[in-house]
Parts: sequence; C-alpha cells; structure tokens
Amino acid sequence: MNFLRRRLSDSSFIANLPNGYMTDLQRPDPPPPPPPTAAQATQATQGAQAAQAAAPAPTVSPAPEKRPQPAQSTGSGFFSSITNVVKQTAASAGLVEQTPVSGPKKFKVLLVIDDPQHDWTKVFRGRKVQGDHDIKVEQAEFSEINLVAHANGTCNVDMQVVRNGTKVVRSFKPDFVLVRQHAYSMAQNEDFRNIIIGLQYAGVPSINSLESIYNLCDKPWAFAQLISTYKRLGPEKFPLIEQTFYPNYKDMITMPTFPVVVKIGHAHSGMGKVKVDNHSDFQDIASVVAITQTYTTTEPFIDSKYDIRIQKIGNNYKAYMRTSISGNWKTNTGSAMLEQVAMTDKYKLWVDTCSEIFGGLDICAVKAIHGKDGKDYITEVVGSSMLLIGEHQAEDRQLICDMVVAKMNQAVPRSAGRPPQRPTTVQPPQVMARSASPTHSRGGSSHAGLSLFSSKSQSLTNAFSFGDTSFFRSSNEDEAKAETIRNLRKSFASLFSD
Ligand code: ATP
Repeated sequence: MNFLRRRLSDSSFIANLPNGYMTDLQRPDPPPPPPPTAAQATQATQGAQAAQAAAPAPTVSPAPEKRPQPAQSTGSGFFSSITNVVKQTAASAGLVEQTPVSGPKKFKVLLVIDDPQHDWTKVFRGRKVQGDHDIKVEQAEFSEINLVAHANGTCNVDMQVVRNGTKVVRSFKPDFVLVRQHAYSMAQNEDFRNIIIGLQYAGVPSINSLESIYNLCDKPWAFAQLISTYKRLGPEKFPLIEQTFYPNYKDMITMPTFPVVVKIGHAHSGMGKVKVDNHSDFQDIASVVAITQTYTTTEPFIDSKYDIRIQKIGNNYKAYMRTSISGNWKTNTGSAMLEQVAMTDKYKLWVDTCSEIFGGLDICAVKAIHGKDGKDYITEVVGSSMLLIGEHQAEDRQLICDMVVAKMNQAVPRSAGRPPQRPTTVQPPQVMARSASPTHSRGGSSHAGLSLFSSKSQSLTNAFSFGDTSFFRSSNEDEAKAETIRNLRKSFASLFSD
C-alpha cells in the first residue's frame, strides 16, 4: 500500500498518465477502506471488465483550466483508482472486450481532419455504411489530434478540441480518415507527417490514400511525377512549366533568365514565393535560402492573364479561372475574381493523368497559369487538402461525402470480435500504469472490424491489416491469457499485502 502511495506521489508518473486519469488521487484521502479480500479483488477485476465494456462518453469540460473528470473516475477515491489500474491492465492484456456487451457497435468512426468552420457532421448526417452502420464523424484539425498505432491494426486517436470555449476530449479508433488539411508546411508547427505515418502504420483506410498524402508533402517530389507525365504526353498535351530544382542554396549561382519566381521549400498560400527581377536580387534570395536549410525551385515568371484550376472529385470535374483584381502577381494573394469555366478535353486530360500519380488521387486539382502569350503552364498538382472554391462548395462537399461512403462500403467488415491481440506478458500493476498509454485506458468506441480496403492505392495501407489468421496470433495465446490472469491476480493480491 505504501509502495503504491509512493509510486503515485511520483509526479512524473502522474504526468505520464492519460488526461484526467486518476485525478481522484489528487483529492484528499477518503477514510481508509477495510482491507480487501482476494474475492473483492476478483470482483474488482470483473467490475473493471464491465466498465471497460461500456462505451465512453465524450468528456466535456466547461473551462480549459478545470481538469475534466473522465468517465472512468466517477467512482470515489482509492478504489476507483485501483479499478482503473485493473481495467488498464486487463485491457492491455487482451482480457477485456472493447465492444459493448450488448453486441457489436452499430456505427463506423470517420475521422475528418479539417478546420472547424466546415461542419462535416452535417454533411454525413443520415448516411449509412455496410448495411445499417451509422457514420460517427469525429472532426479535428491536425494540431488537435495525437495517436497510438499498433502493428496489429489498431489505432487510438486522442483528440482535444476547444469548441465555443468548451474543451472536448475524446478517444476513439477511426475506421476511416478523410484528410482535408495540409499534412505539412515548412511554416512553423505545421509538420503532421508523424500523424500520417501513424495512420498508415495502423492501416487505416483513407481519402486520399495516406501514401499519396505523404508523397505530396514535398512539392518538388510531386513535380517529379509531373515531369514523367510531361515526358510521356509531350508539351502539346501536357504543357508543364519549366522548373529548376536546387537541393540547397549552394548551387544557386547559375544565372536563370529574369524575371523568375523562386519557390522556397514546401509551403502553401503563396508563402515562400518570391518574384526576382535581376541577378543581384537572386543572390539576395539565395542568401535567405542559405539559412532556411531547405530546397528551392525556380521557374520563369509568367506574365499571366489568369490562373486555372481544374479539380476532380471522384468522377466530377470542374474548372475555374482566377483573375487578380488587386494586381498582385500571386492571384491567391489580395483580391481576385473567380469564374467557373467549361471543362474541356484538354483540362480533363491534365487532371485525369495527374489523378493517377502515387497510386491514385481520389480528390485532386491541377493548377496552371494562362499567360498573356496565350499559352498554358501547368505548375502543380494538389490532393485532398485542396481548398474548395467557387459557388459549388456545398455540392463538392457532398461529392466528397459520397466518395467516402462508397470507399467505406468497400472496406471489408472484420469478422466478429476484436482484432487479434499479441500475447501479453503481465507486469506488476504499478509498472503497467507507468507505461500505460491512452490506448489502453480509454477504450473508446470499438473498432468493429479491421478494414481491408480494395482500392489499388491502398495496397500499402493494408500491409498491416489481417484477419484472424494474423501471424501475430500465437498458437498458445489461450495459455498466455490464462497465465496473464494468474499473474494479474497475484500482482493484485501483493498490492494489498504491501
Ligand atoms: P496555394 O496554397 O494557394 O496553392 P502556393 O503557396 O502553392 O499557393 P503557388 O500556387 O505556387 O503557391 O503560387 C501562388 C500564386 O503565384 C499562383 O496562384 C500564381 O498566381 C502565382 N504564380 C506562381 N508561379 C508563378 C509563375 N511561375 N509565374 C507567375 N505567377 C506565378
């Protein structure tokens, strides 16, 4: 007992616990309970199983500074903490079903990564997948989520969002992901490739494919694909802008023809793009690149009439032209006029070929500049993070929704039961608690099935998806579980005898 108290007074131990976990320990001590018997300990284990089986409610706190009381901590004092430890231990040992006892869950969790101004819950309202499963939308920005991914295909996402001054904390296992934000920008604090890696690691199916999202995180890397297309189709059919790549500042000494546009690193919204008119300005920019420690591309400055954007969402095509009003050479900066224009065969060819890169892009757009010389210059391809523009944004959102629903339907439902678990070696509860991740403590909604996604672009995504025949499933798993139960009981008993 004293040992446990000592352990719990270790501040780093408490700090490493999931949000709000064991917060009851920070309250004044309740009157000492009568010493529990072994039977009570067993009862506590069973209680923990029942508690774990219940679906968690989202935790809502009225003020950020007031720490939320998690659903698990509603019991009072020391015993609820013990219950939590047992719950966590049992869950990590694979002894607790994460599904509600009443039967398999009747919804699939869709994680939408987007900013809050676009309410995807409304868009997906009433939609069903795989028969009669509702779609439960969990929406957050990249900066608001974190995750733990396991090679057996489970992925626990933790999300902390503040909406209307209210902090909402959730933990869940996504069945599908829709990525509507840039995963990477060299602007400060905008590198979320770790989240993309985690989702890919767990094999979570998505739109666009995680593989393509990762590959689009370096513009020159994506441009290299456009160069291949250009070589294949030729300049008539695929008029790609001339571009030069510099891995760093060192070789930025060759004289390009002026004016040029220098594009530094990987950034969005016109950031890092500079128009350079002469050699001495180019040298100045090279000196700036020197301290950024990134790559640069240069391309001829096109005296443009308008920008062109051709977007493709599934089989829906739209073309837009954007003309600067404020006179900024970047038409995405300052005021501009946007008009929808007719889809031509030429535009369709551009966007269709671009949609084939990186194993296929479900959602994409090709950007081009139409010069005053009457020529077109393709500059870039963007994926599912593309901004929706124009008058038909609501329709575009609906198209994205339809596509997500279709892809979620393609996902093969997992056979009944939970995903295969690795045989777990039991550890003393205090050690388990110290190393516990939110994965175990917050069961969240169950992942009713490891999804096999049949799109060709998902072949890599599926690398870690398997059914009950997983090679992680050991033949002596039952023995291991029995051993786990024995050890758990022993550890629990020793905890009280300390
Ligand atoms: P966004 O995030 O809006 O897609 P971005 O950061 O990717 O923007 P670009 O699209 O490459 O930046 O450039 C911004 C704008 O600058 C373009 O919309 C276009 O109007 C202008 N622009 C880009 N490259 C050139 C060029 N080579 N010649 C002339 N104008 C250009």
